[in-house]
Order: sequence, then C-alpha cells, then structure tokens
Amino acid sequence: MKEYPYYIAGEFKKSNNVIAIENPVTAEPIAQIYETTSEDLKSAVDAAREASLLWREISKLDRANTLREIQRAILEHLSILAELETREIGKPHKESLFVDIPLAADCFGYYASFLETFTEELHHTSDGTDYIDYVPFGTCGVYLPYNVPLMIFGFSCAAALAGGNSLIVKPSEYGSLSLLELAKVIDRLDIPKGLINIVSGPGVTVGAHLARSPVDLISFTGSRGTLKKIVSESSVYPKKILCELGGANCTVIYNDADCEEAVQNVLGSAFMKQGQICIGTSIVLIEEKVYDRCVARLLEGVKTITLGDPFSATCTMGALPTKGHRDEVHARVQELVNKGNRLLTGGEIPSLKGYFYPPTIIEIDEILYEEFFAPVLLVKKVKNNEEIKKILRNNPTGLVAQLWSKDIVNLEKIAKTVSCGTIWLNTFARMNSATPFGGTKQSGWGRNLGKSGFFEYVQCRHLGIGFDKSPVSGWFGIP
Ligand code: NAD
Repeated sequence: MKEYPYYIAGEFKKSNNVIAIENPVTAEPIAQIYETTSEDLKSAVDAAREASLLWREISKLDRANTLREIQRAILEHLSILAELETREIGKPHKESLFVDIPLAADCFGYYASFLETFTEELHHTSDGTDYIDYVPFGTCGVYLPYNVPLMIFGFSCAAALAGGNSLIVKPSEYGSLSLLELAKVIDRLDIPKGLINIVSGPGVTVGAHLARSPVDLISFTGSRGTLKKIVSESSVYPKKILCELGGANCTVIYNDADCEEAVQNVLGSAFMKQGQICIGTSIVLIEEKVYDRCVARLLEGVKTITLGDPFSATCTMGALPTKGHRDEVHARVQELVNKGNRLLTGGEIPSLKGYFYPPTIIEIDEILYEEFFAPVLLVKKVKNNEEIKKILRNNPTGLVAQLWSKDIVNLEKIAKTVSCGTIWLNTFARMNSATPFGGTKQSGWGRNLGKSGFFEYVQCRHLGIGFDKSPVSGWFGIP
C-alpha cells in the first residue's frame, strides 16, 4: 500500500502510529499516513521558527519567485494531485481537476503578482519621514478541512508565505494525501528547510498539539466545534487566530427572478461535492408565486444527478468521506422528517458499497439555520420581503448568500442589510484569488484572498525618522 510520510524541516518522517486511508467510494484502504509524534511536531515548530527568520529577510521579489515556483509545481502535478483528492475524498474528478487544484495554484500566482507591485507607504514632512511597512507574524499553524485541502492551502498559505511567514500545515486526517504528495515537490524547491512543514494525523492529537505550540498565528478553516477547542487549546501560548467556518447559507428566489437560472445555481450550490462546499446553499427561500414551479424544477434537476464512481464521466455526485459522516447526516434527516418536515426527495441510504448519500430535499415551515455539509437542501416558502429580510437578519451565521430577482435596486438594498462575507446578486461562486473571502458572525472572522488576505498575515510597522528636533525635545525646558 502506498505510504505518505509527513514532512518536517525538509525531511520525510514516519511514526509507529499508522493510519489507514480509505477510499470512501469502495470502502477499501488505499494508502497509509502516519500520526506526527509530539517530538516531531515540536521539531516542526522549531524548524519553522528558524526558517521564518531567514524568509522574512528575503526580498519581496524573491518571495514572489518562490510563490510562482509553487504555482508551477502544483500545475505540473495537477493530474496526480487531482486524482489523489478524488480517491481520498470521493468528490467527482472533474471538480478536483478543473476547479479545486487550479484554484490553489492560482492563489500563489496572485500573491506573487501582489508582491511584485506592492509598495510600502512613505509620508514626508519638513522635520522627518514616516515609513510604514509590513512584517510577518513569524510562524503560522494552518488547519485545513477535508473537502478541499489544496484549495484552502492556496487560500491561506500563499498569503502567509507572501507576508514572510513560515508554515506548519495540518491537513485533515480525512484529506491529507494531496498535501503530502505536494510535499515531495516542495522539497525540490530552493527554499529554507522548515519553511513549509506538513504534519499529519488526527485533529484531537496532532491538531491539539499544534494549537498548544508557540506558533504566532493560527489560520483555521473548519467547523465551529473544532474552533472552540482550538481557541481553548491555543491559550497556552496566546496567538492571533484567523478563522473561516461554515454557514447556514441562504439563497432567496423572488417572484420576479429568472427561475431557471436561479434553480440551476441552487442545484449546483447545494449538491456539488456532495454538498460539501462552505459556500453551498443550505436553505432556499422561495417567494409564494414561484414556489411550486421552482420546487418542481429542483426535483427534476435532482433526477439528473448521477451517483457513482467519481472518475466516471457521467458521475455528478460521489460519496461522503466517512461512514460516520454519512450515518450522522442520515440521522439528522430522519430527525427533521420525524418532526413533521416533508421529505421531497432522497433521504434513503443507497445500496452501494461506499458512503453514498442521495441528493435530499426537505420542505420546512419554520426556519432552521442548519449546515449539513452533505447533499441536503432545505426549502421554505416565504410570503414577502419583510419575512425574507427577517430570516436573513436572524441567521446566526454569515458566510455567503445568493439573492435572485430582476429588481436589482431592491436586491442591492437587501444586500446592504445582510451581514455576510459575500453576497451574490443573480449569480453564484463569482470569486477568485483577488476577491476577499470569509465570514461574519458565527462564520468566522478575518479574510483569505485578495489584498485583505495578505494583511491578515502581516502586522504593519511604523518607522518614524526625524531630521530635526523631536516633538518632545525641550518639553521640560532643559536647554
Ligand atoms: P473540522 O473542524 O473537523 O477539521 C478542520 C481541521 O481541524 C482538520 O485539520 C482537523 O484535523 C483539525 N481538528 C479537528 N479536531 C481538532 C482539535 N480538537 N484540535 C485541533 N485541531 C482539530 O472540519 P472538517 O470536517 O474537516 O471541514 C468541514 C467544515 O469546514 C465545515 O463546517 C465547512 O463549512 C468548513 N469549511 C469552511 C470553509 C471556509 O472557507 N469558510 C472552507 C471549507 C470548509
């Protein structure tokens, strides 16, 4: 079986704790990884500290060159990286190949260009000059979720490296093969040993050790429950925490919307990657007049979704990553149905060997702010704008929202009242490396991507240079 050692200070290492990695589509083991020991994790932090001191001194242009090399390395190995993500995570191969891995590469290209054009601030006055530049935090512990490991590596690590930081990357134990494979390529780059370390193993052990370690910043992408643990664990050595969580994302279809287009995007956002995208739709709110038509079209659309081998050209939905996640999703669906909500489609575990779950739609009367992180969509009929505004306002999460209507003036008004990191008006997934991404409220704080993403990973420094007497000279009258 193929082995994937972890990568610390430029060395590939194994431990006695071997973890079998399963293909969720066949429920058979495909590879093994190793749980990083606490001694090796400490070495990673020490090596990252050393490397950060070298890396911060490297010019912006040289840093940009390294980022471009990482971008090239990802693209040159696109095929193997995409294959690994699909084998381990169960998502359709075309999503890994055409979206997830290219986006990861693009982030490194974006921050390379950013560094090439970025200038510090200078303010001159008659008695001096103020110079404002940006210094790295130092060492960053970066946590990745299982669904899009390389993409989130790009979202967070490209900016962190651009800012002059070193990395200890902790992929999920359910999605680490692509990162561990990439480590082999990173190892061939001319960069300080220990600049990029990749540890592996369970969150409760390796993740917790990393949180307790004296890194300077944590960049966390994952679930709210884990964030709470990390906040508590990391208080041993207080540090900045940047966090990107999920959301009970709402999509609204108004009476005057282009319903066909809206439905297409609800289907895409609810069921791509088996519903495991943080920007996906959890709840679709549909105005009364178009409700029946939209629901009928949603159900027709679901019929075209084909579950199966994610490498097959006809497959549009693969499997969930673990049996545990699949069974938990099913239990939650049953609970909702037992409470009187109406199952419109799906909701049955298919008789396939892997951890498949069918696209499922449940009609609800009372609003529920739930993220399933699975192919489960809640639909709710809404009366009017007031009800819609209230539902959007009361959402405890704030990652993304989609609003569909031909009345763009009304949409803009509504958008201004919604607290969300991203609001899409008559579109979905309009984002790229230059557009900041992150949540409000319980979806997190801080931003990845864009200029804002860079500034999360640096602190500004003011150099005040005097050419004359300082403002305090002579204050006490000393001649
Ligand atoms: P998760 O919270 O289970 O795991 C995230 C990371 O934390 C993993 O690397 C895991 O090993 C680690 N971890 C787990 N327990 C830990 C502990 N006790 N201490 C330290 N580390 C620990 O998340 P997941 O299931 O892998 O990912 C799904 C979640 O991520 C969803 O909620 C989804 O919405 C969210 N997500 C958000 C974004 C975004 O950009 N906002 C993107 C993708 C996924």
